[in-house]
Amino acid sequence: MDFSKFKKSTTSVWGGESDVTLSGAVTSPIVNSVAFAYKDVDHWHDVSLGKAEGYIYSRNTNPTVAVLEEKIRLLEGAEAATSFATGMAAISNTLYTFLTAGKRVVSQKDNYGGTSKIFLDFLPLYNVQVQLCDTTDFDQFEKEIAKGCDLVYLETPTNPTLKVVDIKRLAAAAKKVGAIVVVDNTFATPINQNPLALGADLVIHSATKFLCGHSDAMGGVVAGKKELVQKIYQYREINGASLQADPAYMIARGMKTLELRIERQNASALKIATYLKAHSKVSDVFYPGLITHPGHAIAKQQMVGFGGIMSFALDGGYEHVKKLLTTLKLVHLAASLGSVSTLAGPPRTTSHVELTEAQRKLLGIPESLIRYSVGIENVDDLLQDLDTALASL
Ligand SMILES: *Cc1c(COP(=O)(O)O)cnc(C)c1O
Repeated sequence: MDFSKFKKSTTSVWGGESDVTLSGAVTSPIVNSVAFAYKDVDHWHDVSLGKAEGYIYSRNTNPTVAVLEEKIRLLEGAEAATSFATGMAAISNTLYTFLTAGKRVVSQKDNYGGTSKIFLDFLPLYNVQVQLCDTTDFDQFEKEIAKGCDLVYLETPTNPTLKVVDIKRLAAAAKKVGAIVVVDNTFATPINQNPLALGADLVIHSATKFLCGHSDAMGGVVAGKKELVQKIYQYREINGASLQADPAYMIARGMKTLELRIERQNASALKIATYLKAHSKVSDVFYPGLITHPGHAIAKQQMVGFGGIMSFALDGGYEHVKKLLTTLKLVHLAASLGSVSTLAGPPRTTSHVELTEAQRKLLGIPESLIRYSVGIENVDDLLQDLDTALASL
């Protein structure tokens, strides 16, 4: 099927599916087969060498996994996509594919906690030079990139303070020195933002979050230039962090409602952020959809919607955080985001638990911060829940 003429909601439902339907089944099957058998040894050999289409062994490729990869490839407008057991596997495999001894990477101080750990603790062990810039100081970024680097790694909006990074501007700077540009697009999803169209070479998703959308399966995906994705694929097939058919099916199933969920979450989050901003017991709200947000202008240029995640700080510190979180009824106090149900938690116990208090302070993450990932519940119910909980403080 030619998907170029379809909108994203259509591609989310139909993308990748038609290739593997079995006996007229209207959903793609879960192919829980480790290996794929051949009647003809020459044909088997051709598939092994990549000269013919087919599957050999599920650590490399699998028909159900291929459905998911194809959906994301189409939604991101990429040449190729490959998948992983988790989002962190997608990130680490991508970084380790390109950052060998002597290479230099420029990134931002605000990255997902696990990604920060790779930059701060792991890559230096392999003699990779890591330069982390102040996340919204694009002049500093440009200076560091211009000194020469092999890879520029961005994440926007950031976790947990929702800073916005100018993808187009930094991708242009990276092009001048021949660096590969990688963007973690987990928070925005392909519905709200397409980094490849802004100049990135590779886009990464933790499919565990919005793409799956139901907090019941983990996965990761990288999509982008074929030549680059191929190298990452070769690294992953040997290092082995491959996605299994069952979670791939769950994520692909979740993705059929991706646009419906994201549209609802965009609208609800904006309403809730506006409400919190005006509340006397809330000292700060971080949401790129608010005109007062420092990254609002760039977000408006590079995003279609502002996403379902915000964070806010309370007057009164950590004791108030604990009280508020346990008074709220319509949230799971849990370490994930992007689900149909609202999830909330303090970054100091969730996304940034791997970091020390000093490292969090350096990132400007207040200890009284709450990350709030809006679900698809009725927004008036969520507002009422927040109102009751805030009044109890
Ligand atoms: C959750 C998350 C990851 C890691 O994904 P896992 O599937 O948990 O390994 C990476 N980046 C961002 C922005 C995330 O939110």
